[in-house]
Amino acid sequence: MKTRTKLVHGGTRRSQYNEVSEAIFLTQGFVYESAEAAEARFIEAGADEFIYARYGNPTVAMFEERIAALEGAEDAFATASGMAAVSGALTAMLRAGDHVVSARALFGSCLYVLEEVLSRFGVEVTFVDGTDLDQWRAAIRPDTRAVFFETVANPTLEVVDVAAVAEIAHAAGALVVVDNVFATPVFSQVIAQGADVVVYSATKHIDGQGRCLGGVILGSREFIRKTLEPYMKHTGGALSPFNAWVMLKGLETIDLRVRAQSQGAQAIAEALAGDGRARVIYPGLAAHPQHALALRQMGQGGTVLSLDIAGGQAAAFRFLNALEIVLISNNLGDAKSIVTHPATTTHQRLSPERKAALGITPGLVRLSVGLEDPEDLIADLRRALDAAAG
Ligand SMILES: *Cc1c(COP(=O)(O)O)cnc(C)c1O
Repeated sequence: MKTRTKLVHGGTRRSQYNEVSEAIFLTQGFVYESAEAAEARFIEAGADEFIYARYGNPTVAMFEERIAALEGAEDAFATASGMAAVSGALTAMLRAGDHVVSARALFGSCLYVLEEVLSRFGVEVTFVDGTDLDQWRAAIRPDTRAVFFETVANPTLEVVDVAAVAEIAHAAGALVVVDNVFATPVFSQVIAQGADVVVYSATKHIDGQGRCLGGVILGSREFIRKTLEPYMKHTGGALSPFNAWVMLKGLETIDLRVRAQSQGAQAIAEALAGDGRARVIYPGLAAHPQHALALRQMGQGGTVLSLDIAGGQAAAFRFLNALEIVLISNNLGDAKSIVTHPATTTHQRLSPERKAALGITPGLVRLSVGLEDPEDLIADLRRALDAAAG
């Protein structure tokens, strides 16, 4: 089956009513025919047998199978949020004494997990510039258990060479863990490029309409069932069946939505770069430092662009406040276009030096392009650039 067919039919489980639209099994538990049946299921649950919703649930299983089919992964475990996926994947595989190498440019909460949480449990983390392969080579050691990076970093949109980092990591026996939110499962084939474990915040493009939190961890059956599942099912990061249903239905349209959003982002990036009033950072533009890599790895620039507005924070705030269609918020991947000022919101807690090192300048704004007509968005953004210039 081709991707779009899998996205509509993959993972479907029908009840005795043969419903067309997938059912929401909003149940925590499952009734056993007998005491012996309960005992047998606790010894070993079959592929379509459930025990408790923290371990698994039919609606959640439908979502896991459908996203695994899209990603080309053997198996998946759904989580309550993207951060439950990131922290669950890492803490399930690591123990005190392990070493991790991570790209420095990360989503704020990912940085917290890598920097603050793992070190508390005796895991040493070395940070590198994710775009510099020499830094990866120098940092990875014989005791490196895992490498971690966002394939396209938030909010600076640096692109990491998945295949090259995977080759360096695998030579040292380290697992490659990738947060693939910005590349999206539509554009990227990170498992084929060498990733061992892929995590998503389903809150973003998978829901795609800003309703629910969710996440998912994908990998080999061996990793998901032997290493991850025991950890996740006892630590409680399970996805709610209702949210799983929203994500499952989101997958039916994700290919169409994300392609349209990426086309809109490309049109906006080209129009605003032509204007010359703000520096446009977008992997789909030839001026982006990793443009060739982005096209090779994803085929497109993706749904998010950043603008560095001259005049610093005051000009950036004038820009945000003048927008009439684009909303000021902090989600991304939504049908509604959303603008964020990272320096004062998502990355607020970082020191000025750290922000500068990461390229999070006072004038930087991140734009997640939605499903509105790109012409309306370009007009809105141009009006806001006029206001930013004061
Ligand atoms: C949003 C996001 C997360 C966290 O996801 P939640 O669903 O908000 O917990 C992690 N990584 C990246 C790159 C994100 O954009």
